[in-house]
Amino acid sequence: MAPHVLVLGGTTEARALAAALAARPGVRVTTSLAGRVSRPGALDGDVRIGGFGGVEGLAEWLRAEHVDALVDATHPFAAGITANAVRAAAAVGVPAVVVRRPGWEPGPGDRWHPAASLAEAADMLPTLGRRVFLTTGRLGLAAFAPLSELDFLVRSVEPPEPPMPRHTEVLLARGPFTVEGETALLREHRIDVLVTKDSGGAATSAKLTAARTLGLPVVVVRRPPLPDGVAPAADVAEALARLDASLSRPGR
Ligand code: NAP
Repeated sequence: MAPHVLVLGGTTEARALAAALAARPGVRVTTSLAGRVSRPGALDGDVRIGGFGGVEGLAEWLRAEHVDALVDATHPFAAGITANAVRAAAAVGVPAVVVRRPGWEPGPGDRWHPAASLAEAADMLPTLGRRVFLTTGRLGLAAFAPLSELDFLVRSVEPPEPPMPRHTEVLLARGPFTVEGETALLREHRIDVLVTKDSGGAATSAKLTAARTLGLPVVVVRRPPLPDGVAPAADVAEALARLDASLSRPGR
């Protein structure tokens, strides 16, 4: 039977993996999306949408759909689904590859302030500036809601929901973004400080270059840890190589 690969998606890496796998004759690929984005772009192969119902639900799905290998290509901050994927794959005996693009590193001239969480990022803001560009996504704005004396420009793909800070302007946009565009945006809104997750990758890194150019401080929220024992693949090519190795293992 054609090998069936489940890709846990929501990232550009997941999209590239689905395209690469769907192009292979005799491979079936299904991408799973959480359903957070109302109009996800087209994906190669099959697509399923919505949670599985925890570790048990995912394990059951792997069994029922005769999945031969799983790739967790979810966002570095989607720690819940990654933990579930590793546990469910182990329970069912399905090989699993976790893809994590490397985090961003500060360069000369950067004024980065690492934060362990969104709450810690919020605590730092009053000492760093009054006009904040918040790019941590539409979820988790509650952590910033008490900061009613600050002005927030919130950029997200989907409209954020309350609670959020009293003075909030929302900008709906999806990357990739350019350094020119980001610099113009920071200037236009007279931004004092940028807040970002350490998402990594090129699609949303232009804001960091723009902040450096303008000498602005950046609060960088650190990634949650990977489950114990997981050594991630850094990119799509490495994930495909590891998948190939596990799918060609005898006795699979
Ligand atoms: P999360 O906290 O790790 O996951 C919460 C629950 O959502 C999971 O337990 C699972 O529900 C469901 N879920 C998450 N990803 C799923 C997927 N790909 N397919 C099916 N169910 C999924 O995740 P999150 O941070 O809310 O992120 C949700 C999705 O958005 C992820 O797929 C991620 O790649 C994408 N995303 C997240 C961020 C971010 O900053 N967190 C940024 C960009 C994109 P069940 O337990 O019911 O299975």
